[in-house]
Amino acid sequence: MFNLSRYFSTVSFILIVLAAGVLGPLYQKLSLQQMQDLAEGRNVAMAQVFQNSLRNSLDTLMSDSVGQDVKFLTQSEEARRLHASVLELMRDTSVVRVKIYNRLGSTVFSTDAQQIGESRLDNPDFRAAISGAIASELAHRDSMSSFAGTLSEVDILSSHIPIRAKDNSIEGVFELYQNVTPFVAQLHRNMWLVTGGVALVFAALYFMQFLVVRRAQGILEDQEGRIAAARDTLEIQVAARTDELKRTNTQLEGEIVERRQAQSKLNYLAYHDPLTGLSNRRSFIERLEESLRESARRGERLAVLFIDLDQFKQVNDSLGHGVGDELLVSVAARLSEHVRLIDMLARLGGDEFICLMEGVRSEGDVEILAREIIGAFEFPFKLDDHELFLTASVGICLSPGDGSSVLDLMRNADTAMYRAKGLGRGNFHFYTPEMTRDAQERIRMENLLRRALDNGELRVHLQPQIETKSGRLVGAEALVRWYSPELGLVMPMRFIPLAEDSGLIVGLGNWVLRETCRLVMQWRTSGFELPQVSVNLSVKQLERPEFIEVLSTILDETGMDATSLKLELTESVVMAVGDAFDLLERLRDLGISLSLDDFGTGYSSLSYLKMLPVQQLKIDKSFIDGIGKNSGDEAIIRTVMELARSLDFEVVAEGVETVEQSDFLAALGCEQLQGHLHGKAVAPAEFRARWSVPQ
Ligand code: C2E
Ligand code: MG
Ligand code: MG
Repeated sequence: MFNLSRYFSTVSFILIVLAAGVLGPLYQKLSLQQMQDLAEGRNVAMAQVFQNSLRNSLDTLMSDSVGQDVKFLTQSEEARRLHASVLELMRDTSVVRVKIYNRLGSTVFSTDAQQIGESRLDNPDFRAAISGAIASELAHRDSMSSFAGTLSEVDILSSHIPIRAKDNSIEGVFELYQNVTPFVAQLHRNMWLVTGGVALVFAALYFMQFLVVRRAQGILEDQEGRIAAARDTLEIQVAARTDELKRTNTQLEGEIVERRQAQSKLNYLAYHDPLTGLSNRRSFIERLEESLRESARRGERLAVLFIDLDQFKQVNDSLGHGVGDELLVSVAARLSEHVRLIDMLARLGGDEFICLMEGVRSEGDVEILAREIIGAFEFPFKLDDHELFLTASVGICLSPGDGSSVLDLMRNADTAMYRAKGLGRGNFHFYTPEMTRDAQERIRMENLLRRALDNGELRVHLQPQIETKSGRLVGAEALVRWYSPELGLVMPMRFIPLAEDSGLIVGLGNWVLRETCRLVMQWRTSGFELPQVSVNLSVKQLERPEFIEVLSTILDETGMDATSLKLELTESVVMAVGDAFDLLERLRDLGISLSLDDFGTGYSSLSYLKMLPVQQLKIDKSFIDGIGKNSGDEAIIRTVMELARSLDFEVVAEGVETVEQSDFLAALGCEQLQGHLHGKAVAPAEFRARWSVPQ
């Protein structure tokens, strides 16, 4: 810290010394000047006195002196008289010597007689006085002769004063020596006193200021100490806070990065299908909304193509969800290759995909895209050890013609897709308003079906199953019919899928089961023996945990023996149920036979099939239709027959309509036949009437 008191002491000391050093001589100079002025005034006054008193003698001396020798000037009467008068006048004054010079500079009178006659012409003071000024000079004399004897150590002020005649002209010069020793001594004393006093005052001031400054210095140091301490504390706090902030910042940055990553992940997940990486339903809806607005503004058309895989459910059910997922990923990749970048492809869920085409100029444009999509399934999908052939159905609707809202467009494209599916695999169809009417019809039908059960509108029909070799009736398949007051006779193909979708199938299926058992038992008690009856079972029924219980109850209530009952399940039904093995085992344990319906259309693996507790395979009608027409179908039938033989399954062919088919199957060793050749599904009374007669 800047040492205030040291600095102050040094500077003050120098200033005090300087002040004392300057003030003393200044005071002395001023006092001397004052004293000189005073003494000079006295000399002037004295000269005046001399001139007044010695007027006549002086005039005489002045006029007579010219041309006179020294002797005359010292010894003449006039000179002596003047000398006496001067001495008289000088008595009791401090004037110690008087000299008078005439205009020529000659000393005409002096109290020191030896000086008379000396010339003063060269003296500057004389010359000043002769020209009218008064000139004084202060001098210190070690010794000086005066009329009162010899003076020693005296201070003398000598003044040259002009002597004026009556006409005011200067006729000579007085020189008066005044003894100013007491003044000068006094002056010196005063000077020391003043200097000492000033020094004392300054010293006192210095001391007081020194105390103040020292105190101030103390306070400053104290404050500086505190400030330094506060600054140190502050610095420590700032450093700590900076560290903390840095840590918090790093932490925050980390959190922000994490949050951003999480956010972008969330955003990605929010708009993408996690399995295939395609856009999801939400993303599609938002894009379609935006597209609709843009298209409306530009007056353009757009198309929505609803894509549904035709056999995905079977693949999923038979090969498992893992393979199903893999297949979906491959399908997504394949579709992406065929869809233009500007068109948007999304997965809605399950095996449903959707595509948006903007800037549609004609239906032809959309048709090309639809064919592209269907064409994408031309080649099989290779997954690990499977090679799967798939097809897709595409439903198309256009905006604004077929709807101007997201909801309408998606629903109508879906409706069109159902129609395409109805046409057979791998087809596309444009939406038409009738389709909506059909859909509405479906809703109406569903409502009617809901009541049908309670209203007793359902009937069980039976279709015979014949032993190939003997043509004997070995069983019958129970097939449900709906006699609707509003719709008339409705076939199961129309309402079973509806019942499956709405869940009505459970009640319906159980009713068919009960009704069939009741009928068979009633026949039996009334003397018509039907060896076995087959009842179709939906996956929805089998999925119910209480199914076995319900079945047992039905058997109990109707008195039906389990061995007379056969349950028909499709492959997909078996695959779809999680604990199918267990369940089927329990059914077999009850004594119930099991038949795999529509065999050949699914994807059951051989090893899986081998483990199933099934007794019968039912070759699907589509293969039977191909007999005599399609060698591929015939080959499949042969393979199924061989498979059945090796696994010890009984085989029944359904949809046998011709003798040719019957012969073909008989030749291959197919045990049973079912089809129009032997009889359609008919009402129980008709069935009994037909078959009670011994063949
Ligand atoms: P499905 O179980 O494969 O039944 C065979 C279908 O083929 C029956 O049609 C039958 O009438 C028909 N059919 C049999 N032989 C011939 C033939 O020679 N020519 C022709 N053109 N058709 C023949 P239906 O009765 O219309 O039943 C269709 C499907 O509805 C059934 O196929 C079955 O999956 C389902 N279904 C019928 N009743 C029930 C039921 O009570 N419960 C369940 N879950 N499904 C049922
Ligand atoms: Mg069946
Ligand atoms: Mg079938």
